[in-house]
Amino acid sequence: SQLPYYCCGEVVRGFGRGSKELGVPTANFPEHVVDSLPADLTTGIYYGWGCVGTGDIYKMVMSIGWNPFYKNIKKSVETHIIHQFTDDFYGEILRIVIVGYIRPEKSFDSLDALIAEIHSDIEEAKKQLDLPERRKLKERYFNNSHK
Ligand code: ADP
Ligand code: MG
Repeated sequence: SQLPYYCCGEVVRGFGRGSKELGVPTANFPEHVVDSLPADLTTGIYYGWGCVGTGDIYKMVMSIGWNPFYKNIKKSVETHIIHQFTDDFYGEILRIVIVGYIRPEKSFDSLDALIAEIHSDIEEAKKQLDLPERRKLKERYFNNSHK
């Protein structure tokens, strides 16, 4: 398997599908970062660790999906950091380590069903990342020795 998989890049603007309005903002990577991911990393929802700039390392959930902006021929990678930030961080460097897979992409009958699923993904991510072997990866992949 390709996991754990480390990757980093600048946070760029998405196409405003209203993630923030749903209470789950998702930080997008630029196209070249998405293109550099292993092609066999299947689309779906993943969990792992994430860190913005020189900030702390937090749990995250992320999706690898098909990008509607490019008529679904390009992938998009969107990370929701499980932390309440005071400000947006467009232009900053986001570093993530993708640790495990949660589920494939789905379509939902209602916005409520989508939101409920996102919350269950977040709970699953938190639970998985509390396991000692997953927690160990947190320090291994981020060199925050400048702090
Ligand atoms: P966009 O369509 O530009 O991606 P979103 O509504 O998905 O807009 O919001 C994403 C932006 O919100 C991120 O790029 C980041 O600057 C900011 N943000 C604030 N808190 C978080 C968080 N906890 N996780 C991810 N992004 C966050
Ligand atoms: Mg987004």
